[in-house]
Amino acid sequence: MTLKITDECINCDVCEPVCPNQAIFMGETIYEIDPSRCTECVGHFDTPQCVTLCPVDCIPVDDTRPETRDQLLRKYEQLTRAAGKSLAIALLGLSSLFGSLTLPALLLPASAEAAMAHAAPRPGWLQRGKASFYASHFAGKRTASGEHHDPDELTAAHRTLPFGTRVRVTNPRNGRSVVVTINDRGPFHGKRIIDVSRAAARKLGLIKAGVGDVTLSHPDSRQPH
Ligand code: SF4
Ligand code: SF4
Repeated sequence: MTLKITDECINCDVCEPVCPNQAIFMGETIYEIDPSRCTECVGHFDTPQCVTLCPVDCIPVDDTRPETRDQLLRKYEQLTRAAGKSLAIALLGLSSLFGSLTLPALLLPASAEAAMAHAAPRPGWLQRGKASFYASHFAGKRTASGEHHDPDELTAAHRTLPFGTRVRVTNPRNGRSVVVTINDRGPFHGKRIIDVSRAAARKLGLIKAGVGDVTLSHPDSRQPH
């Protein structure tokens, strides 16, 4: 069966870049799945990537579109053939411009991680908003990346940055900054752009206030103003 996105979707942008079949697109109000392109990730991955990453569990199976695993596999093969044809046409066009070309890497299916890599911050990247920190009852709980939350580690939740991304968080009120590693998804309401661990909040001087303005930037950047 293909999957569908329910209206609980919060448009967090996480699922669209990880779909290996480009089946997910922004609809009129929320993200949608093109059933003709969804294979439940059969042919690419053991589990549906969008379901694994969706922070609000709003991607159930679409019972109105029953499909066997064999049918999903055939759909995957058709999509792969169609992609191969388009690529061959593109390469023919390029080779007529540049002579012979061998680009085998282009024929490899992109992994979810590679698909998200483009979203990692670059030098000069800045995001401004509010930060809060994890309540103590989250200690030991599983994060969206599969790691368990450790309040003593310098980690954080962000809506879209890929897991493993290191980002500098700066508190403009006191000039303190800390580099955290993204291993969870959130926060999903208000103007908060990041939830940091208690250890990171301590370094930023956010513990007393609970929430405060921050600037996110590339980890190698100096303190942004
Ligand atoms: S299950 Fe896989 S193929 Fe289907 S929409 Fe999700 S990521 Fe794309
Ligand atoms: S991951 Fe879930 S909440 Fe986020 S855009 Fe996709 S369907 Fe919506």
